[in-house]
Amino acid sequence: MTDERLIFESSAPGRRGASLPADDVPADVGLPAIEPELLRPGTGDLPELSELDVVRHFTRLSQWNFSIATNFYPLGSCTMKYNPIVNEWSARLPGFAGIHPMWPAPLVQGALALCADLEAMLAEVSGMDAVTLTPAAGAQGEFVGIKMIRAHHVRAGHPRRKVLIPASAHGTNPATSALCGYDVVEIPVGSDGLVHLGDVTPHLDDEVAAIMITNPNTLGLFEREIGAIAAAVHEVGGLVYIDGANMNALCGVSRPGDVGADVLHINLHKTFSTPHGGGGPGAGPVCVKSVLEPYLPVPRVVRVEGALALDEDRPLSIGRVRTFQGNFGMLVRAYTYMAGLGGDGIARMSERAVLNANYLRARLGGTLSIAQDQPCLHECVFTDQSLAGTGVKTLDVAKRLLDFGFHAPTIYFPLVVPGALMIEPTETESRETLDAFVAAMETIVAEAKADPDRLSGAPHSARVRRLDETRAARKPVLRWRPVGATPGTGGGDEA
Ligand SMILES: *Cc1c(COP(=O)(O)O)cnc(C)c1O
Repeated sequence: MTDERLIFESSAPGRRGASLPADDVPADVGLPAIEPELLRPGTGDLPELSELDVVRHFTRLSQWNFSIATNFYPLGSCTMKYNPIVNEWSARLPGFAGIHPMWPAPLVQGALALCADLEAMLAEVSGMDAVTLTPAAGAQGEFVGIKMIRAHHVRAGHPRRKVLIPASAHGTNPATSALCGYDVVEIPVGSDGLVHLGDVTPHLDDEVAAIMITNPNTLGLFEREIGAIAAAVHEVGGLVYIDGANMNALCGVSRPGDVGADVLHINLHKTFSTPHGGGGPGAGPVCVKSVLEPYLPVPRVVRVEGALALDEDRPLSIGRVRTFQGNFGMLVRAYTYMAGLGGDGIARMSERAVLNANYLRARLGGTLSIAQDQPCLHECVFTDQSLAGTGVKTLDVAKRLLDFGFHAPTIYFPLVVPGALMIEPTETESRETLDAFVAAMETIVAEAKADPDRLSGAPHSARVRRLDETRAARKPVLRWRPVGATPGTGGGDEA
């Protein structure tokens, strides 16, 4: 089975997935008729297939997926860890999966209790005072965080103008700040990969709304001066946003709230094992210190006379950011994961994530160049420097890894490292898997020297070779048209 037609191309006129008995309900049962102009003239060009055709089509497509359930996926900064099956079991319990978000609070006390408990667990692990679970992703969590910071400054009489962001930051940090109306001031990163107080202080004045800082940073290093930097920002009345997407390295070891964070987001779909879902449902809870608590989005889960309720009446709130309680199924999975591990288990999770990353750093250090030659936390960044002169680049190594059954690491990020390969194994991988990955890398680097064409033509085993990713993003083809039909307008170029 090497190729799969579009489901439309497999259509056979008149074929059906199910046959229903003839309709014995009289046409006129006295209900108001739908206005004729609201009725579709027909069903359009829907494909006509049997149930088996449909099942086979989608099952085959699902087998083309590259996922953590099938292969090692060391995508740095993304924490692609295994989502235990028990999470899926609990998310499907009828008492969670079957409830409707419009049901009144007295009927969903269990679901609200799960939200309240998860908020408490996240507050504990992060060292913060209050949590909102509603944001649907890390990026939306950042938006919520910076909106609250702005609301805080506006209430104090002046929104301020600047947000300070280190050069190693995830792209969402400057994007969020700009979206909230702030000027982004880039703080350089030292030759040791860290942010230094001396590079922050020249920018400190009463126009600083916040610093947004990722810890551990995107080089996988703990920001050693973060406490002093946070204190200095507080000194001028600014607030401290810690990007907690990399919490997998810290749980049970260091709490952002203890080093000066006023607000941080946590990616449940990274640290707490819920699926990333191909752009599907994520969850980016935001944790705050009490100074920002009044601004949290509505609704809030609150306890009134012994029962849980949803509070919408919060005059200083930045408002609603998502429907209902966010992606509730993700919250159930994260709750299950955290409750299953317990406090000690969560601490061991982070210790092992750091151990695995350092194992790869040590084992690959002789094969690839290391960006920062010092112990790392949850991920380790390499460069293509050792391949200089072979013509082989980071992209070629990444593509060739697919032939060995490994997903590529994150590449060309962080931007401060030329030709970066950012590898995050996570704690869920066995030593055998890590060794197999090292062996593949050693083979690839040997090939780069002996047979560079083998790499520039990679991947050899995938269905497609190298795609024009820019064109795919800029000119997506979102409309199907029958084979042979003339291209319409607005559907993008022919792909
Ligand atoms: C993943 C990530 C984000 C964004 O999270 P999304 O859920 O993808 O929006 C922000 N910052 C860092 C450091 C990240 O790794």
